[in-house]
Amino acid sequence: MPKSLPRPKAPQTVAVSSGIASDAAFGAITPPIVLSSNFAFGEFGASPRYEYSRTANPTRSMLADAIAGLEGGAGAIVTSSGMAATDLVLGQLRPGERVVAPHDCYGGTYRLLEARRAKGHFDVTFVDQGDPDALKAALEKPAALVLIETPSNPLMRVRDIRAIAGLARTAGARVAVDNTFLSPALQQPLRLGADFVIHSTTKYLNGHSDVVGGAVVMADEKDIEPLGAWANITGVTGAPFDSYLTLRGIRTLFARIERQQASAAAIAVFLESHPAVRAVHYPGLASHPGHALARSQQAGFGAMLSFELKGGTEAIGRFARHLQVFTLAESLGGIESLVAHPATMTHAGMGVEARRKAGIDDSLLRVSVGLEAEADLLADLDGALAATG
Ligand code: PLP
Repeated sequence: MPKSLPRPKAPQTVAVSSGIASDAAFGAITPPIVLSSNFAFGEFGASPRYEYSRTANPTRSMLADAIAGLEGGAGAIVTSSGMAATDLVLGQLRPGERVVAPHDCYGGTYRLLEARRAKGHFDVTFVDQGDPDALKAALEKPAALVLIETPSNPLMRVRDIRAIAGLARTAGARVAVDNTFLSPALQQPLRLGADFVIHSTTKYLNGHSDVVGGAVVMADEKDIEPLGAWANITGVTGAPFDSYLTLRGIRTLFARIERQQASAAAIAVFLESHPAVRAVHYPGLASHPGHALARSQQAGFGAMLSFELKGGTEAIGRFARHLQVFTLAESLGGIESLVAHPATMTHAGMGVEARRKAGIDDSLLRVSVGLEAEADLLADLDGALAATG
């Protein structure tokens, strides 16, 4: 009888069990952290797997394998931040080549693209990727890379990864998707045609707001060597301690995100019917323009949302001052609930004109829903909204 193939493990199992009970030295269940910056060659002329931790480190490799496994990739490079991960992909471009990027992306990504363009490293076309004609027009000229961010930060716009990847491929461009807002628990862009997935592991993957980190996952084995070599050349690889914490965070990724998105859904429904709120952006709402698309390409709607407050900047100030459970802070994806004001915080560096074009209004607030009791979160928002009037 032919031998049956081993059954592939469910992603929840991959998240929990990556590296568990793999320690050959002591049989430790939790894999030990290897902090050493350098490793013994053993013999003259040998080329051991680990030589120097900028190049490769056992704890970082374990994290890379876990993230690659969750995304269904051939491999991953773990970087020192999400921006370093984006820059690692951008670092493959040459002067004269072009990136087609969303006009409404994370402010730091926008700033990075503009800064590298200003130095002549490559050209950039910012486009509304929700407008198929604008996207087709942007891809009529040769492009090397199409960058996608879905759902977008902070407006939660959902982009069709499969369709955009198809257009990009016809134009000869590679495709990178920033999957930070959903994590591989809810979206796997490589399965939808992307070449690269970018993560700020600072967010859901680590999940505890105590690490700044990033990762690039490659669909094709051929991309592992050049990106790995570039990460080593530029020295953007992540630290072992951060890798250890992030791997520990990943073990609870599914449990966290399932609970967090349930509270986010309840909050979105609550905000949608509140008289002090002008608009709510959450793909889980049937009223959201990307609802059907999100349903088809995501495994859940996630725990991020944004909303627009009536009453201008004054109302924002009153709302923020009255919050007791939510904290006014940047970042997202941690166990604690946060509110951010993109115009003055995460997207301040984008500038007024670029924010206007992207539709990021001064009345917009971004919410990262954490693990506190749903009733406390709803009561906190209710109290703060009552103070805006
Ligand atoms: N991508 C997205 C969608 C983000 O929201 C962020 C940070 O907020 C980044 C990338 C950058 O990540 P990091 O802050 O880890 O550099």
